[in-house]
Amino acid sequence: MSRIAYVNGRYRDMRDASVNIEDRGYQFADGVYEVCEVRYGKLVDQPRHMARLERSLHELRIAMPMPLASLSVVLHEVVRRNRVQHGIVYLQVTRGVARRDHGFPTKPVRPAVVVTARSLDPAKGKDNAARGIKVITLPENRWPRVDIKSTALLPNVLAKQAARDAGAYEAWYVDPHGYVTEGSSSNAWIVTKDGRVVTRSAQSGILAGITRSVLIDAFEKLQIRFEERPFTPAEAADAAEAFVTAASMIVMPVVAIDGHSIGNGKPGAVAKRLRESFHDFAVLS
Ligand code: PMP
Repeated sequence: MSRIAYVNGRYRDMRDASVNIEDRGYQFADGVYEVCEVRYGKLVDQPRHMARLERSLHELRIAMPMPLASLSVVLHEVVRRNRVQHGIVYLQVTRGVARRDHGFPTKPVRPAVVVTARSLDPAKGKDNAARGIKVITLPENRWPRVDIKSTALLPNVLAKQAARDAGAYEAWYVDPHGYVTEGSSSNAWIVTKDGRVVTRSAQSGILAGITRSVLIDAFEKLQIRFEERPFTPAEAADAAEAFVTAASMIVMPVVAIDGHSIGNGKPGAVAKRLRESFHDFAVLS
């Protein structure tokens, strides 16, 4: 089956879909994106993703390309046309097309919108979660505005490749004070030996992950003690458990950091429980 993308107002076969070479997304990575999990053909936590999208656009002074209700129709239509039951939907909004010049276009241009969707094999995610993933650490080398979900992801691309080259699945950035910020495409967490779940505050150094925020809101009901504070790679290596969160991975147990096993080297009970109960707290629409 050929895949269908939404590109600036039209649904196109992906083989024929294209954007202008002077799209500022292509020229400058002048744009933002969202990745929403798709479950049973529906979007997971769409309102939170849309709120973050609006915030990212606002921070970059890019106009919302269409009303939220229309955007929701497009997202669902791309999911439907690609027959995605379980997978992800990707949305990208760039500042638009203009003659190449670093400053914003002097005449207003329409933001450009691309939406794609694809199926992910749930068995693969399950497999990874049953084994647990390895992470490496790297010095933080991104700009300070990582709170904006920008398509400017070159440091993240290099970090993910460094992880793969090292036989790991994810790379955790470490800030100049020695604390883990987040993964190249996920938020980072540990579970202390006395059962407290710890992740860094979203005040600085990380993207405010949607999966992260849904979990934090669930902790009270799950009667899980939670601490929002930074941690070091050494604390992670010595922790009972570690895991990462992202819309595309949900909760993924981490079993090694820089070659040191975490806990007993197997996925931890808290991470497993959070993975299993996550969708009880997520909202499908
Ligand atoms: N941090 C970064 C750098 C990411 O790319 C992602 C994935 N989008 C996350 C955190 C997790 O965010 P979410 O839970 O919204 O997918």
